[in-house]
Amino acid sequence: MWESVGYYNGVMGPLEEMQVPMGDRALYFGDGIYEATCVANRIPFALEEHLDRMYNSLRLLEIPFRMERERVRAELQRVIDAAADSPIHFLYWQITRGNSPRNHVFPQGVEPSLMIFVKPHAMKPMDIPYKLISLEDNRFNLCNIKTLNLIPSVLANQRAAERGCDEAVLHRGSRVTECAHSNISILKDGVLRTAPTDELILPGITRKHLLALAKEHGIPVLEEPFSMVELMNADEVIVTSSSALCMKVESIDGIPVGGKDPQRLKLLQDAYLAKFQRETAK
Ligand code: PLP
Repeated sequence: MWESVGYYNGVMGPLEEMQVPMGDRALYFGDGIYEATCVANRIPFALEEHLDRMYNSLRLLEIPFRMERERVRAELQRVIDAAADSPIHFLYWQITRGNSPRNHVFPQGVEPSLMIFVKPHAMKPMDIPYKLISLEDNRFNLCNIKTLNLIPSVLANQRAAERGCDEAVLHRGSRVTECAHSNISILKDGVLRTAPTDELILPGITRKHLLALAKEHGIPVLEEPFSMVELMNADEVIVTSSSALCMKVESIDGIPVGGKDPQRLKLLQDAYLAKFQRETAK
């Protein structure tokens, strides 16, 4: 057992000692896709939905990954089971187009590579609100694919960190898309509103769960774009991701936001946490 475990194409070891070959196309082109979720009691949360999105991203990038779903599940579990105990683990995996001398064109006859890591994770308490900055969304138009090309997100999160903030909310002109590594939704007049799943946002699994939970609790849902002005005037602002679940937002660019519908917000957060705990119970 290791505190953090790494895996590359079947080889497993302590994460800090693992190495990848220089030909892996992730290194030159970010030519691959990834998934991540939290694990409790050695049970990965919402794994089937992550596997569905994984196969969809692979299809959209035309990566011929042949490993059966059952085998992927087994390899992920093998890495989870090799990690020392922790209340929560973070499970990350990526599939790249494989190892081959650098060439923009797809290599022929090359098997895709599977890389996995598991490490201890501390989830942020949902009652400590996020602070955001806003930035123009300068990413490409393939945001629906969970690719490894994350430079604009890295830069956006760095700008946020430099200003003591937790995330960056991105907008194309006035239209809010999502955050650098999360989706964003608002509550306004009792309605939960979030951008539709087009090529401008990642179809977040936490976002999907939040919408389903809202419906279950009688909160109407609207999947329509909203503007920066609507965001700033929302009753509540909610940021969702697999690593932090369902976070309330208290300010954007230093200006206070939300705080006007705390009961509905808490209801959604509690429902989310209950779902996570139920589905990862021993
Ligand atoms: N949007 C982007 C750009 C992301 O990178 C992520 C997560 O990594 C999300 C949204 C949230 O997706 P999920 O809820 O599936 O973690």
